[in-house]
Amino acid sequence: MQPDTVAVERRRTDGALREELQHRIGAAAFNNWFHDGVQFQLSAERVVVGCNSPFMMNWLKKRFRADIQESAVCVLGADVEISFEVVAQPVSSHSATRPKSDLAVTDSAERSAKPRRKMSSQTPRRRLADMVDFVVGPSNELAWTAAQAVGAHPGRCNPLFLHGGVGLGKTHLLEGIYRALRRNFPACQLMLLTAEEFANHFTKAMRERSLPSFRHRFRSADILIVDDVDFLNGKMVIQEEFLHTFQQLESYGRQLVLASNQHPRLFSRCSDELITRFLSGGVYRIERPEFDTRIEIAKRKLKRLETEVTREALKFVAQRFVNSVRELEGALHSLSTYSQMTGQRVGMAAAQKVLADLERDCVKVVRVPDVERVVCRMFGVVPEQLRSASRQRTVSQPRMLAMFLARKHTDAAYSEIGRHFGRNHSTVVSAQRRVEDWIQEDLPVRLASGTWPLKELMQSLEHELRAS
Ligand code: ADP
Ligand code: MG
Repeated sequence: MQPDTVAVERRRTDGALREELQHRIGAAAFNNWFHDGVQFQLSAERVVVGCNSPFMMNWLKKRFRADIQESAVCVLGADVEISFEVVAQPVSSHSATRPKSDLAVTDSAERSAKPRRKMSSQTPRRRLADMVDFVVGPSNELAWTAAQAVGAHPGRCNPLFLHGGVGLGKTHLLEGIYRALRRNFPACQLMLLTAEEFANHFTKAMRERSLPSFRHRFRSADILIVDDVDFLNGKMVIQEEFLHTFQQLESYGRQLVLASNQHPRLFSRCSDELITRFLSGGVYRIERPEFDTRIEIAKRKLKRLETEVTREALKFVAQRFVNSVRELEGALHSLSTYSQMTGQRVGMAAAQKVLADLERDCVKVVRVPDVERVVCRMFGVVPEQLRSASRQRTVSQPRMLAMFLARKHTDAAYSEIGRHFGRNHSTVVSAQRRVEDWIQEDLPVRLASGTWPLKELMQSLEHELRAS
């Protein structure tokens, strides 16, 4: 079967599975639990049920596992296996604002997957985030202002590069820019995609010997928006292709917008030429949102979810989820599910209970090798070097940072960390003290791409650890 035919076939089966499930559990339960925020990924012998929070996942497992299993058997055959997963991004985090009838229309429109305009070579499949839904605070104000400027006057801040930790709103802003440009400049050819998608298109074009049309397509964009460009780090061939695309668009004065979890200078395996280009326009960092911003985000989200939460419970949630808006939204989804189930407003006791469950399900266990991997990637060294006897600063400094982070983020004892790096207990203790001093001084640290303030580097490493 051709890939397109496979895709159509899969959609058909997905539709059949949903229909069967609705038949079994009734339309009311189906609409309540499966209409929004749950996706089915089907293969010949497997169905993965993607849920937007651990809470939702546990609930669906408990209540509907048997029904999903039986429906899948009906559609795909007796050997099918069911598994549940929490999907990183809520499937339609913005769709909660839409009325249900509208959902159905959008769904079928999306399924037909026809580009709306011939010019739009990359048509996003789900409803994109809008700038007006973005809550602005000191943590993201600069990035938001730059994004607004690009949406209104493309070309003025070029390229625009947004960076910051996972779940802090970069994709939201990129999608907001796309929508603003679409509104303001309907005749422009806009492209919005991830660096990974760019790489996939490229390798497909290589395989199918259709590079000229691939190049034509990307190099004739008026505005190119590329998310998660840290994917390019370490992929030299794709970098080269991307650089040519970049240069060509730049020479025509076209607007580029890029986002990444890391500052481009922290890309340890990326050509200097590309890094220089990334840095040549406006580079803006999004920080973790401060308390007031988190409260405002939570309020708006709960309004969209039509969920009532007491002021005390709202404060409690906003205090708990500080690292990422995505995590905060996950928690709010759980509260909303709880309140739908119980039919009650969420008070402090309920919030405590729901979030305790959530935290238990979400605990991410970090181990010493995870720390080692993240540090090695950042400094461009290999684990054997960290474990070696070398006392060169380019090795001893990342080694000490790795020891410090291992102590902070794993439950390994000093002696265990020491053993891992071929050192003893007291070396780890002194490494920890040294790094604490460096953090106090905000010592500049040398990386392949130049020096870097330690505090920012630590934040970046810690974000990587959480995301790894
Ligand atoms: P990133 O791309 O930085 O990993 P996203 O843009 O995907 O993060 O954001 C994660 C979620 O948090 C999205 O649902 C997004 O809409 C929401 N979000 C992030 N920042 C804000 C904000 N300032 N105001 C409103 N929603 C936000
Ligand atoms: Mg993103």
